[in-house]
This record gives sequence, C-alpha cells and structure tokens, in this order.
Amino acid sequence: EAKGQGKGRQVGYTAELDQRTAEQSRLAADLRTSLGTDQLHLLYQPIVSMPGGELYGVEALARWNHPDRGPVSPGVFIPAAERTGLIVPLGAWILEEACRQGAAWLYELGDASPRTVTVNVSARQLREAGFAHEVDAVLRRTGLPAHVLTVEITETAVFDGGAALAELKAIAALGVNIALDDFGTGHSSLSLLRTCPADILKVDKSFVDDITEGGQHAVVTAALIQICDGLRLRAVAEGVETAEQAAELHRLGYRYAQGYHYARPLPAERIPAYRPPLTVAV
Ligand code: C2E
Ligand code: MG
Ligand code: MG
Ligand code: MG
Repeated sequence: EAKGQGKGRQVGYTAELDQRTAEQSRLAADLRTSLGTDQLHLLYQPIVSMPGGELYGVEALARWNHPDRGPVSPGVFIPAAERTGLIVPLGAWILEEACRQGAAWLYELGDASPRTVTVNVSARQLREAGFAHEVDAVLRRTGLPAHVLTVEITETAVFDGGAALAELKAIAALGVNIALDDFGTGHSSLSLLRTCPADILKVDKSFVDDITEGGQHAVVTAALIQICDGLRLRAVAEGVETAEQAAELHRLGYRYAQGYHYARPLPAERIPAYRPPLTVAV
C-alpha cells in the first residue's frame, strides 16, 4: 500500500516535471522569435554614491513583454535562455544595446552621464570562445570607452572552470571593469578574490536586509566593506530599500548603493532626470 502510494507520487512528480519542461521549451521557443523585435528592451537602474544618492552608474536589466502573457520576469526567461543556449545571441544583443545607450549618454550628457554602464553576463556567454574579442568589437562599434563598461558576473560563473576565467582576464585586460554579483551567496566567495580580476563586489540584498533587521549576517555586511577596502575593490550594496539601511551602510563605510530606495529600474530616457531621494538627516 505504502509502495503503491510512493509510486503514485513519483508518477505525479514526473508528470509535473515533464509539464514544467514543456512549458519552459515553449517559453524558449517564444523567446527565440522575440529576438530582434520590440518585445525585448532594457531598463537601467541607477547605482548611486552615498550618502548623497547622486547618480554614479547604471545597471542594464533585460525585460521581455510576451505578446500573450505580458511581462515575463528575467528570473524566468534568463534561466530558460541559459538552458537552451539562446542566452548567447540574446546576451550579445543586450551587450550591444547597453553599450550603444552608454555611448549616447556620453555624447548627450558629457560629464553628467553615468560613469559606468553595468551589463549582466551569464556563465554560458563567458564560456563561448572569443567572448572577450566580441566585447572589444562591441566597444569599437558603439564607441563606448572600455573603462565605462562593467561586466557583472555571478561567483558561480567564474567558479565554472578555467575557460571562463581566461575570458574574464582578457576582458579585464581591455580596461573593462569586472563586478562580482550576489557576493557572499556562493560557495567560493573569498578564495575567488585571489584568482578573479574583480574591481567591484556587489553585496547581496540578503546581507543588506540583515543590517537593520538584527539578522545574523549583519556582521558579514560589516566585514565585507573592510575586505573591499583592503583589496581596493569598490563595494556596491544591493537591494537598499529604506533610508535606515542607507544610513547604516554609509556608517559602515559603504560608498555605493543600488535599490528601490533610490530608484527602480527605469527606461533609458528617464536616467538624465534622476535625482536623489529627499531624506531628512538622522
Ligand atoms: P541581479 O543582477 O542581481 O539584478 C538585481 C535585481 O534586483 C534586479 O531584478 C533588480 O530589479 C532587483 N532589485 C534592485 N533593487 C532592488 C530592491 O531594492 N529590492 C528588490 N526586492 N529588488 C531589487 P530583475 O531585473 O528582476 O533581474 C533579476 C535577475 O535576472 C538579475 O539579478 C540577473 O541575474 C538576471 N538578469 C536581468 N537582466 C539580465 C541580463 O540582461 N542578462 C543576464 N545574463 N541576466 C540578467
Ligand atoms: Mg547580476
Ligand atoms: Mg545585478
Ligand atoms: Mg545581485
């Protein structure tokens, strides 16, 4: 009887998995046809300097507006694109579009333009032979100076293997900045800093949340800024949602932040009008 039940559950589970896989391949097929259409666009979230909250840079974040389903979260379509390999052409478009926009801001705004344009790059893209060469080609085509671009990768992308690390080093050699995203949530964090040519550490939102909520990782948030200062890395606190978090991060020594407290991801044309939130001094 128990055996029968177990088997039934297993069948149900397998059917559910099949359904999810089918759902994902449908999504991936739709995503494939969206390439080169206006279903895809980029938003840009301000990265600010603290304590004032002035614009320092931006992070490009992909958006997909499905013709029937409406907006699909990048948390859903990016993993689907990674699994199918579609992230390679999709990522190439994202990189070129963000660099084109960065160069346009430089031309329009001069000194007031974002000092860095950050683009998320997947492990799969980094493993493609010649990716660094493509980054170089995109910079030349768009006219964006290499030092304005930041390539954002997750710890696991570099941990993935030697090929990714070699491409990353070649990208750094172009003068492009390297940011390690979701720092502290992976397995290799600290040892990675010795091998990876990182310029920027993005301290994960979960650590930021803890500092004003008395969470047990508040001490990690405090220690990470010391490590960054010691290794001459720029630390960016991610997911800052309140003035209290911003004040505490600044007190700990953080100088850069990103989060809804400052701004949500915005259409490119709204970046020039970005102004810091009005906060009462505490
Ligand atoms: P990520 O690189 O860690 O990007 C930060 C995510 O946190 C973004 O979610 C952003 O909208 C969100 N966020 C920023 N501030 C706050 C805040 O104060 N509170 C909260 N709750 N969230 C905040 P988004 O745009 O949904 O993207 C999710 C993830 O999808 C990204 O995480 C990144 O891993 C991936 N992704 C997005 N765009 C791209 C892309 O162009 N290429 C690749 N490869 N991945 C991308
Ligand atoms: Mg990222
Ligand atoms: Mg990010
Ligand atoms: Mg992150």
